[in-house]
Amino acid sequence: TRRSSDLDANKRVRIKAGIYYLDDRMPEVGLACDHARLACNSVKGRHDINYCVYDEMLREKLRRQQYVIDHIDEAVEKAYIKVFYQPVIRVRTGEVCGAEALVRWIDPTVGFLSPADFIETLEQFHLIHKVDEYVVEQVCRDYRALKDAGEPVVPVSVNLSRLDFELCDIVDYIERMREKYDVPRSMLDLEITESVLNDNSDLIKTETTRLREAGYHIWIDDFGSGYSSLNVLTEYEFDVLKLDLVFLRSYDHNPRAGKLISYVIQLARGLDVEPLTEGVETEAHFAFLKDAGCERAQGYYFSKPQPLDELKKTIAEKGLAYEAV
Ligand code: C2E
Ligand code: MG
Ligand code: MG
Repeated sequence: TRRSSDLDANKRVRIKAGIYYLDDRMPEVGLACDHARLACNSVKGRHDINYCVYDEMLREKLRRQQYVIDHIDEAVEKAYIKVFYQPVIRVRTGEVCGAEALVRWIDPTVGFLSPADFIETLEQFHLIHKVDEYVVEQVCRDYRALKDAGEPVVPVSVNLSRLDFELCDIVDYIERMREKYDVPRSMLDLEITESVLNDNSDLIKTETTRLREAGYHIWIDDFGSGYSSLNVLTEYEFDVLKLDLVFLRSYDHNPRAGKLISYVIQLARGLDVEPLTEGVETEAHFAFLKDAGCERAQGYYFSKPQPLDELKKTIAEKGLAYEAV
């Protein structure tokens, strides 16, 4: 047994609090506690906030979260989950050299949901692999349909979450889908956001190595958006470095950002990795990237993410050519 005098008196305990104001005359204590707990849970992972009051906004947020959790299976089954594509342009030639698969949820009840409305929730509740598996299969299915119709194809990159590696054998799944639809490995690229690589987990390292040894290209996504650790660039073997949109956003109002972008592009090239800049919105952005020697570019200037059929029309209207594969 321990006496209280054995305990370290200097120990600091951080407390999180959830608050629910009782404004009723006859409060339901149980319900009030539940609400306070939900408010508390909502700041669990936050280092900057220690308490939260249950209010209308939180109620609405939790309601939307619950909807996502309750309906994800149905959304996958009934194909309310859609894959949109955004083209990637080879800067030197102006040709379409790839496309990124970006998920959307078009729900008959609540309407259009963008990734910001559901990805984080699905990650939090360990359901994200359901979406990512669906996207991988849909991308393979679309490839097969295009190929069978004799239409041009370019490699498509899909976004993986760190949890995909923990919740399912995503490497094995990708391989199975690739075989099922007879897709060459070179037509499927895998984007992993930089923050995932940052936490130095052995699992991510083993799995990305497995993918790369099988012949897939690994792209580092969102580089520069978080706490970039340059170490990641030497710790992992990868093929494309995606400069986050924040770079071009600051370029618009800060002349020094241009220099930084140029250096990061040089850095990637020095590591034999292709630099790709995201968030190209203007002709000036594109001209700058050409000068800076960026290899690939992606952004609204070329096209928004769209359903495959609409993207094909945009590409035709703009007279863009497909790079030969
Ligand atoms: P991301 O992979 O970095 O995707 C780029 C985001 O930037 C996309 O937002 C895209 O629509 C947007 N974007 C593209 N060009 C421009 C531009 O010129 N200007 C601006 N302001 N934005 C541009 P989206 O589609 O809303 O996706 C957001 C994030 O959600 C993605 O960031 C990715 O991290 C995640 N995500 C999307 N699809 C999937 C998926 O299938 N699986 C997983 N796990 N995550 C996904
Ligand atoms: Mg991405
Ligand atoms: Mg990105």
